[in-house]
Parts: sequence; C-alpha cells; structure tokens
Amino acid sequence: MRLYLLIGALMMTTAAHAQEKTDWKLVIHGGAGVIERDRLTAEQEKEIRAALDLALQTGSKILAAGGDSLDAVEATVKVLENDPHFNAGRGAVFTYDSTNEMDAAIMDGESRKAGSVAGITATKNPISLARAVMEDSPHVMLSGEGADQFSREQGLEQAPPEYFATPERRRQLEEMKSNKLSWFDVDLKYGTVGAVALDQAGHVAAATSTGGLTGKRWDRIGDSPIIGAGTYADVRACAVSATGAGEYFIRVGVAHEICARIRMKDAGAKEAADAVMAEVKALGGDGGVIVVTPEGEATWSFNTPGMYRGKASAEGRTVAIFGDE
Ligand code: ASP
Repeated sequence: MRLYLLIGALMMTTAAHAQEKTDWKLVIHGGAGVIERDRLTAEQEKEIRAALDLALQTGSKILAAGGDSLDAVEATVKVLENDPHFNAGRGAVFTYDSTNEMDAAIMDGESRKAGSVAGITATKNPISLARAVMEDSPHVMLSGEGADQFSREQGLEQAPPEYFATPERRRQLEEMKSNKLSWFDVDLKYGTVGAVALDQAGHVAAATSTGGLTGKRWDRIGDSPIIGAGTYADVRACAVSATGAGEYFIRVGVAHEICARIRMKDAGAKEAADAVMAEVKALGGDGGVIVVTPEGEATWSFNTPGMYRGKASAEGRTVAIFGDE
C-alpha cells in the first residue's frame, strides 16, 4: 500500500514539474550606431519602428504557442532580412567592389550546436542557410562560393544580386568612397540584425545576420558569423547577439565573454553585458548587444547614441531607437 502511495505521489510531482513552464522572452536588435533624432525623418522612424514590431510579433507568436527558441530567432531575423531598412539580406551594405556579401550565424543553447556562413551572395535569407549548415552539414562555418553551392544543394530560396542591392546602400558606398575618410563607414551606420530568445521549455537561442560594413574589401569577415564573437548561446548562461565594429567584437570575444561571466562569475546579464561593452569601448570599439538568460533576464547594452531594438514577453512588446528611450 505504502509503495503505491509513494509511486502515486512521485507521479504527481513529475506531472506538476512537466507542466511548469518558463515565461518566454524575445529581444531583437536592428543595428547600433549614430542614430539620433535629427538623422531620421519622421517617415523613416515610423517605418523602422513598424518593422521592429513586426519582427517581434513574428517571434512572439512562435514562443507564445510553446515553440522552440531556435525557430523563433530564425523567423524573427528573416523578417528583418526581408526589410530593406536593415543591413541584412535585402538592403545589405555594399562592399568596396559594389557587391553584397552577407554573413550570418545561429546557435542553439541547449545542444550548443551552431551554424554560420560568411561572404555569401545568393541566398534570400542568410539566417536559414546558417541553420542548414548547423543541421544538414557536419560543419559549423562555410564561406564564399562553397557556402553558396551548399545553399543551392539544400534547395534554399535563391535571389539575384539586384534583390539585395538598394539605391540607398549604393549611395552610402559612394559617399564613403568620395569622403575617403576611413576604411569603413565612418558614421557607424550599422543595421545588422539579431534576435535572442528564451522559450517555454527554458531553452535559449541566438541569431545574427548582416551585410557587414560599407566598403569592406579583401573578403573581410566581421564578428556576426564568428561563434563566440557576434553570436553565442549556452543554456548554462545566456544567448547573445551583437552589432557594431566587428573587429573589436572579435578581439574581445564579446558574446562568449558575456556568457562566461554569467556562468563563472555569477554575474547578472546586464552587469556582464555592460562590463564587456566597456572592454570594447576601452579598445576603441562601438556597438551593442542583446542578451537573454534561462532565468528570464532580457536586456541590452550599447555604447553608441542609439540602437534599433525591441523586447517582447507575455506582458507585451516594446520598441526603441534612441539612447534616451
Ligand atoms: N558587426 C557587423 C560587422 O562588423 C556590422 C554591424 O553590426 O553593423 O560586420
């Protein structure tokens, strides 16, 4: 009799445990930089806020329905890749040679599986190619023509060069060349996109997608597709997506460093993100990060005047652009 009672009690606790759900969270960015009120028209600001909100809505639907964080970050990033306001997919910045070469990465915090691509030119949604590398190849990172070939073999949707190229990005390249002020876009007109999510099962994932920096050359690769620099997820700590001057983010190992501080120093996400962004600043770099933890902390940190960003949870959605919001 006692044994039956014990088994019954055990079964009830297991059932209660199985029903315990984590409160889902989603955080996104659409790039950091010199984003100040007088640099955006009312129209542009409205369109960007609407695009960020649409991305949040898309990921929220998946998370609210009990979907996976990995599916949520991919779907969210796809919305931003398809929007020409952002420097990813359609609307990616131009290289010095007037081409669009894109980088993307995705990581699942539960399995610590990751996939990334660099210098790709023909996949409509680079983030989906990164996911295919993770799930359908034995590798973590593919680049250039080989990655483009893998994309075709996987049957991913392809797009011609004209799809990615927008007049505004071409103008920015010409401006950069005529100013000859810097190797790269001096204004830090970033626009890289990223998403981090915590799902109801307590899993975290991160995704980042970018065209890199205006005027990049010699097959330059930034931090976004480098696992541990611009993108990282580890269910023991956090999920991170970064945006900014990639060279500094690579040198600091930003995304992994934030997770390591949370895991080994017991730091809070905000504290860890601020400390690591201060390191980036100390080396001369600008940009920002978004972070989510399995405990439900959802935050960001940036050292630029603004960052396109947004947060969503069961409580609702918020979108922000300027530093003082
Ligand atoms: N981090 C990206 C890169 O360096 C650029 C950006 O975030 O806008 O390629």
